[in-house]
Amino acid sequence: MRKKFDELRGLYEEAAALGEARAVLAWDQRVTMPPGGAPGRARSMSALSRVVHSKATAPEIGRLIDETWDWAQAEGPDSFEAAYLRVLKRDYDRATKLPSAFVGESAAAASAAMSAWEAAKKNSDFSAFAPHLEKMVDIARRQAEYLAPGKPHYDTLLDLYEPGMRRAGLDPLLGALADGLKPVAAAIAERSAAVSDELMRGDFDERAQLALADEIVRELGFDFSKGRQDRSMHPFTTGFSLSDVRITTWTMRGWLPASIYASIHECGHALYAMGAPAEFELTPLADGAGLGVHESQSRFWENIVGRSRPFCEWLLPRLRKYFPGKFDRTSAEQLYSAVNKSGPSFIRVEADEVTYDMHIALRYRLETALIDGVLKAKDVPEAWNAGMKEYFGIVPGNDAEGALQDVHWSQGTIGYFPTYSLGNLMAGQLAEKMRADLPDMDGLIARGEFQPVLAWLRERIHRHGAMYFPADLMKKAVGKGPEAGPYIAYIKKKYSALYGF
Ligand code: MG
Repeated sequence: MRKKFDELRGLYEEAAALGEARAVLAWDQRVTMPPGGAPGRARSMSALSRVVHSKATAPEIGRLIDETWDWAQAEGPDSFEAAYLRVLKRDYDRATKLPSAFVGESAAAASAAMSAWEAAKKNSDFSAFAPHLEKMVDIARRQAEYLAPGKPHYDTLLDLYEPGMRRAGLDPLLGALADGLKPVAAAIAERSAAVSDELMRGDFDERAQLALADEIVRELGFDFSKGRQDRSMHPFTTGFSLSDVRITTWTMRGWLPASIYASIHECGHALYAMGAPAEFELTPLADGAGLGVHESQSRFWENIVGRSRPFCEWLLPRLRKYFPGKFDRTSAEQLYSAVNKSGPSFIRVEADEVTYDMHIALRYRLETALIDGVLKAKDVPEAWNAGMKEYFGIVPGNDAEGALQDVHWSQGTIGYFPTYSLGNLMAGQLAEKMRADLPDMDGLIARGEFQPVLAWLRERIHRHGAMYFPADLMKKAVGKGPEAGPYIAYIKKKYSALYGF
């Protein structure tokens, strides 16, 4: 049986290695490719994707999964072999349950919807995008039906991004999160003048920003012998292998936190990607437990570390070094305050820790209603604006800064948004547990001794790769599945001190 398992691994490795090559092309497209390269790149990507897909869905893989299944399970549920087959079978079933005509149809619809969304956003005209959204919702429902006939569609879609999570488990989590955050946001709104971010605005040399971003991620533990940091339109992380992980950042000349916190966020994703055991290379276990856990790592470093008072103590001398004269009279306390200004905003990606999850709650409400068929695509802007008024007390002046701001729905990624909030609340749980295990966590951060923090995450989260469902991984790491309490407590404590309520 071991021989058959090795044969299966060989087949998977070939598909995975070609997938790595495709990832290099995708990275290049977003980072270094000249605009003229687009048509040729589309050709190469499409050809390579077809080869990867046919290798990954080869009938031999299905046959070998079936033949080795019982043998692998007998090794024990925590064994490499059992976990390998669990994750591979899940991916394989998904990839083979969708008829190829449907795959082609949905790729074409997504491509058309993406172009329509870009144009609609530019003109701030939702009505031009509405028929495409209606189509993408229909495609998402049919996809769910193919994958799990007769099961609630949203649950099936959610499971694509957050393995094992169901709406029945998610509703109370997101509900508790919104209920906990709303009063904090309301108290902040009454004292908005108590915190100013003025000192982070001005004119900051972009080359200096990039040099600072490199220094920060290196100090946090990003290994430049196994990764790179570049610039792109939107920051992202991708990995070709466990020892080649790429992050990107962006810079805004007038707003210094953009580059600093994008870098720290993506570095958090990268440290997770770099942290899987070497034996997971070219296996389905290398990728991480799910998007929520991934986001817990990025948000942990970005917010819980990066926006903490001790981190600001560490950061301040570096700001003075890279931007001579600009921070001479700034105190760590002022810096801490400036990077934690909170308030209602239209745009999710610019939202602060307190309000971010309310943006997610709104999207979750709308996308579940779309999938349930109780909301029509054309009525999304009205429902959006009503939700903005309810959560934030503000209404966007146009659809570009309202219902058209995010790319997700145009690509048919429905069920994805909640993973951002799950990431935040898991980060809160991890921080609570880490603080108990590392009582001098603040001192370590203030002195720039990030290694014990990273080692804790490696031990509790990273080394398990995709071995466990997110909820089970959290039980292993902190003794409980996902819950909102620790994150809300963290937010209340931090912001009541910052804003004085
Ligand atoms: Mg992220």
